[in-house]
Amino acid sequence: MMPASASTPDWIKQALKERKSQDLYRSVRKIAGPQSTRVSQEGQPYLSFCSNDYLGLANHPDLKQAMADAALEMGVGSGASHLVCGHLDIHAALEKALAQWLGYDRVLLFSTGYMANLAVISALGSKDRPVIMDKLNHASLIDGAQLSGAPFRRYLHGDVQSAEKLMDRSDQAGILATDGVFSMDGDIAPLKLLAESAAARQWTLMVDDAHGLGCLGDDGRGALALAGLDASKVPLLMGTFGKAFGVAGAFVACSEDLAEYLTQFARPFIYTTAMSPAVAATVLKSLEVIRSEEGQARRRRLASNIELFRSRAADWPAQLMASNSAIQPIIVGSNGLALAISEQLKAKGILCTAIRPPTVPVNTARIRITLSAEHSHTDVIYLCDTLDRIFNDLGK
Ligand SMILES: *Cc1c(COP(=O)(O)O)cnc(C)c1O
Repeated sequence: MMPASASTPDWIKQALKERKSQDLYRSVRKIAGPQSTRVSQEGQPYLSFCSNDYLGLANHPDLKQAMADAALEMGVGSGASHLVCGHLDIHAALEKALAQWLGYDRVLLFSTGYMANLAVISALGSKDRPVIMDKLNHASLIDGAQLSGAPFRRYLHGDVQSAEKLMDRSDQAGILATDGVFSMDGDIAPLKLLAESAAARQWTLMVDDAHGLGCLGDDGRGALALAGLDASKVPLLMGTFGKAFGVAGAFVACSEDLAEYLTQFARPFIYTTAMSPAVAATVLKSLEVIRSEEGQARRRRLASNIELFRSRAADWPAQLMASNSAIQPIIVGSNGLALAISEQLKAKGILCTAIRPPTVPVNTARIRITLSAEHSHTDVIYLCDTLDRIFNDLGK
């Protein structure tokens, strides 16, 4: 017999009830089989438009082989943190390849993007070094600022003047952080102007390019490459391996001195086990694919799916974002309506989650559609036809 769980305190029951009544309740949904544009949930097949596997690499045969081979050769666990004895040859090789690809002195590896952002912002921000960031930045950057204990302000989304105002109001120079591509909106930050404004004021700019790397710019080098920026203009670049790379983990690219500083002071770098060597080897393989002819072809297919989707979406009554990225949200406003549309899509065999507060601001609940290089034009057309019908019915 299973032991009975301890009784639940009332405040927990109350909080859960409140979430439900606000249409804000979240649950984990189980997917059978590998991540792909075709998934199965509770025995039903679905066409998925909600993963961040933008290039379709999560189930790529070469990457799977790389991980299997690496596991056999190097084992599955790193055994320790980077600073104790967990930093293996393969970690060093991956760091070097990333640094060369992006044109930075140094790269540090992390097990997740969440930790990379916590590490950088919490180590660099302090009582005397304020942190300023875009209002729509990822939660991990915000949490990093809170952990740092630094004076922390957020500027209006994508608004360089608002960022400048906050910087000018500060007595000391600090850290300016922005997403490259915004995760729930898909638009790109005004990186060139932010870089100029930060440099003119001796502020240190950090760009989180979780959604740009692999997808955008020459050689897939992301939002910086697209804006004509590099290490000389953006001192800190963070990227993840769980999205376009199709694997898991993250990195921070920076100067020699910044890397050394983070190595001494970034607690989420110091006090955690290094990523599995098999994961590092797979990310290295993924980088190879991203930079190859095949990677380029995948970026082209993704771009063509984005173009097709946007040409169809122009007819819908809902607000479409100024996004040319794989992230194409349809803002519907109320939590209930977003959930209802997501349910109707599901009834037609399409998986696409409703995104609600606190992930996005109140009254901007949305259907967050993500496109992949693995989607065919037929897939995208089926999605658009289905949304046509849903919006039509809503309008009646
Ligand atoms: C996903 C994401 C992260 C977190 O990366 P994980 O590797 O999933 O922890 C950080 N920043 C942005 C903008 C993201 O979209």
